[in-house]
Amino acid sequence: MAPTADIIIIGAGISGLAAGYYAQMNGYRSIIFEAHDQPGGLCTAWQRQGYTFDGGIHYIFGTGEGQPFYDLWRELGAFEGLEFTNQTEFMQIHGPQGEVLRVHSQPDALEAHLLELAPEDAKLIEAFCKGVRKFKDFDLSMLQQKPKSLMTAADWARLGKQVLPFMGVLGKWSQLSLRDLAAQVKTPFLRSAMPHMFAWPDVPVMVGMSLLAYLDNGNAGQPVGAALNFARAIEQRYLALGGEIHYSAPVERVLVENDQAVGVQLHSHETYRARRVISACDGRRTIFDLLRGEYINRRLEKLYDGHLPLHSQLQVSLGVNLDFSQRPHWVTHLLAEPIAIAGQDRYEIGVKHYCFDPSLAPPGKSVVVIMLTSPYSYWQQLSGHTAYHAAESQAARSLIERLEEFYPGLGASIECMDVATPLSYERYTGNWQGASCGWLLTKDTLPLMIKGVPKRLPGLGQFYMVSQWTEPGGSLPIVALSGRNMITEICREDGRGFETALPG
Ligand SMILES: Cc1cc2nc3c(=O)[nH]c(=O)nc-3n(C[C@H](O)[C@H](O)[C@H](O)COP(=O)(O)OP(=O)(O)OC[C@H]3O[C@@H](n4cnc5c(N)ncnc54)[C@H](O)[C@@H]3O)c2cc1C
Repeated sequence: MAPTADIIIIGAGISGLAAGYYAQMNGYRSIIFEAHDQPGGLCTAWQRQGYTFDGGIHYIFGTGEGQPFYDLWRELGAFEGLEFTNQTEFMQIHGPQGEVLRVHSQPDALEAHLLELAPEDAKLIEAFCKGVRKFKDFDLSMLQQKPKSLMTAADWARLGKQVLPFMGVLGKWSQLSLRDLAAQVKTPFLRSAMPHMFAWPDVPVMVGMSLLAYLDNGNAGQPVGAALNFARAIEQRYLALGGEIHYSAPVERVLVENDQAVGVQLHSHETYRARRVISACDGRRTIFDLLRGEYINRRLEKLYDGHLPLHSQLQVSLGVNLDFSQRPHWVTHLLAEPIAIAGQDRYEIGVKHYCFDPSLAPPGKSVVVIMLTSPYSYWQQLSGHTAYHAAESQAARSLIERLEEFYPGLGASIECMDVATPLSYERYTGNWQGASCGWLLTKDTLPLMIKGVPKRLPGLGQFYMVSQWTEPGGSLPIVALSGRNMITEICREDGRGFETALPG
C-alpha cells in the first residue's frame, strides 16, 4: 500500500502542531491524528454556562516583541488575531496572621517590599533580586535553538560564549530549590511564604528568577480568550499550509515492519501509512502501549520507572456571581490549620481569578480557579467507582467552605463548577498520571532537561518522539521547539536545508 503521507504525527498538542507546521513548511506532506475533538492537548480551555475556564496557561514566554521565543511564535502564527495581557505582579502569598507577600516582577519593587517584610534577611533578598535583574538578559531559548545532535563545534563555542556571562548566576541558583533558599530565611513569615512564590517549592531558584525577569520584560503574557485560542491560532496556520488533522482519531498502535515505523493503526482499526512517524503525545504510552515495549533499553526503562517527580493537580473552576476584579489576581493562602484534600493535609490553597480577561465571564461576574497539587494514586484507586465523583465533590466542597473565610459569600454565589483531577488530565490528554509538564523541573531533573531525553528508540527506524516527555519541564515554547528541532533533524537526514517563514 502506498504511503498516505510523508510524516504521520500522533497528537495535536503544541509539540505536534509545531512539528506539523514545520513539516509542511519544508515540503513534507503530514497528517496529524488527534484523540480529542480539538487541538491543544494540555493547552486548553473549556466553556460552562457562559464562563470559559482556562486549563493550561499562566504565562507564555515569547510574547514580547523581539524577545526570546517571540519569532518562534510568529512563525507558528500563534499571535494571529490574539491579544495578550501582562501581569506586573506574579502572585501574592497571604499568611494566617494577615501578612502579605507581593511577588512583584519588577526587581526594585520586589526588593523594597521584601526588605520591608524581612529586614534581617537583607543579604539574601539583595542576592535574590540581583539574580532576577541578571536573568532579564538571559536567553532561555539558547539551549534549544538547534537540535543537540546537529550542534557543531562552532555552535557549542557560540553557545559557550553566550552562556559565559551567566555562569555565576547559573552555578549559584540552578542547584538550589526555592524550598532550600527559604530554609535560609530568618524571618518566620518569609520563610513559610517563600516556597510558594512560584507555585511549586522544588522549582530551581533560577527558573523562578527567569519567570519574574521575563514578566518584567513583558515577555510572559497570557492570551485573551484563554489557552485554546492560542492552540487554535497555530492549528489554523498548519491547516493553511495544507496540513491535515483527523480529530477523534486515537492511535492504538504504531505499525512496524522490519524494525521501521511505517504508519499507525487507529482505535477504529483504520490504518494509515507514512515514511516516518512522529509521536507528539505521552512518552510512556508511546513506548509501552503504542509500541508494546519492544524498542527499549535500560536508560528508557529507568526514565519511566516512576522515580522521577511528576506534577499532577486538582483544579476546581468556578463561575461566580461576584466581581473579583479589585482583588489580587492570584493568591496562595497559607493556612493556620490544614485542610484534608484527597487524603493529604494541605497547608496552602492557591486561588486565581481571571477578571484581567473580561471575555471569560459575563459582565460583573468572575471565573475563579482553585489549584492544588494532588496525588495521582489517590484518584486512580477510586477510578471507575461512584466514590470517585463523591471524592471530587467532597474536595470541592471542603475547599469552598474553607475559602469563605477569605471570600465571604463565595459558596452562595457559585453559578457553575467544574472539577478536574489528575485523572481528568490523563483522560483528556493521555499524559501519564495527568502530568502537567512531563517530569517536573527540579534541581535534580534540570541536568536531564539540559542534556535531553532520547528522541529515537533503540532499534526502530523512521520513528521520532517530541513533546514535554522529551523536554523535561515541558512548557509551551520548549515543546514547540521540540517539534521544530525534530523537523530540522529530518531535513538534515534528507540532505535538505531547513526552511521557515513568518506569516504574510
Ligand atoms: C494546568 C497547567 C498549567 C500550565 N501552565 C503553563 C504555563 O503557564 N506556561 C507554559 O509554558 N506551560 C504551561 N503548562 C505546560 C504546557 O501546557 C505543556 O507542557 C504543553 O502544553 C505540553 O504540550 P505537548 O504537545 O508536549 O503535549 P500535550 O499537550 O499533552 O499534547 C498531546 C496530544 O496528544 C493527544 N494524544 C494522546 N494520546 C494519543 C493517541 N494515542 N492518539 C492520538 N492522539 C493522542 C492528546 O489528546 C493531546 O492533544 C501548563 C500545563 C498545565 C496542565
